[in-house]
Amino acid sequence: MTDRNLVSKAGFVAVLGRPNVGKSTLINALLGQKIAAVSPRPQTTRKRQMGILTTRHQDQIAQAVFVDTPGVHKPRHRLGELMNDEAAESLDESDLILLVVDASVTPDEEDQLLFEMIRRIKKSLPVILALNKIDLVEHSHLADFTDMYSQALPKAKAIKISATRGDNLMLLLEAILQELPEGEPFFPEDQMTDLYERELAADLIREAALILLRDEVPHGIAVRIDQFNERDEHGAYIEATIFVERESHKPIVIGKEGNMLKKIGILAREEIESMSGRKIYLQLRVKVRKNWRDDERVLRFFGYG
Ligand code: GDP
Ligand code: MG
Repeated sequence: MTDRNLVSKAGFVAVLGRPNVGKSTLINALLGQKIAAVSPRPQTTRKRQMGILTTRHQDQIAQAVFVDTPGVHKPRHRLGELMNDEAAESLDESDLILLVVDASVTPDEEDQLLFEMIRRIKKSLPVILALNKIDLVEHSHLADFTDMYSQALPKAKAIKISATRGDNLMLLLEAILQELPEGEPFFPEDQMTDLYERELAADLIREAALILLRDEVPHGIAVRIDQFNERDEHGAYIEATIFVERESHKPIVIGKEGNMLKKIGILAREEIESMSGRKIYLQLRVKVRKNWRDDERVLRFFGYG
């Protein structure tokens, strides 16, 4: 189907930004399908994850591979350090930087760190600055907010967007495709992510738990998929363990008469079903694993580092 005389474009887009600015929401919106876990609380995206968009652009095949990095932030413990390593690593391989900021608040110290990191890159990478969440800013104040970001990175192409409302997403996509280098696509046209279904499932379970528990179990949650079996041609059976850091967190996750765990299970199952397009049977349990965030062996076990 590809005309031999047509050149195609393909490239890796490093998606950078502080936690909670809307990186995952934006990638999902651009791809039109739920791939990256989104949460009202920061740090849902823990491992690097790709979202693959293949489309036509000015009679060319264009493939943008979005690499959603865990938030760049000041490391507080080992896990934080690993996340920063991954963010820096993804820059080496990329063709374009998509920096996402929350334009409804003024830039803070962590934004400054990011600007500094981007200004220091030796390779001259194009930078697109996505000024997100403009739906939260009153029109008359929009420029006051967005100018502060644009001035910090004068060479970047700045575009005001709302990932949730959809404002200017086509404009942003156009700018991204424009910057892609010529090259053959890296992945088949119908592939949307490089993550295995089971990893996506683990991410969605973790997201469901964070949404429902709100601030009651601060950050100390990890999910391990113990079993992922095809049950029949219509569905799959998943068994997973939610790990908490403290004994006292366990009854919170389980809830009165198991109600919280049931709710987490229902929300996670719905999300996994809509992601995988088939029926899912989900079995959850809760275990305590003390200080898992600081234990390197445990980090490896969960797939970090
Ligand atoms: P990430 O940590 O950068 O990946 O951020 P997420 O994509 O998980 O989003 C964090 C929160 O911001 C979620 O509650 C999103 O619904 C919300 N969010 C993302 N984009 C927008 C936006 O354009 N407008 C508003 N109002 N909220 C947004
Ligand atoms: Mg995310």
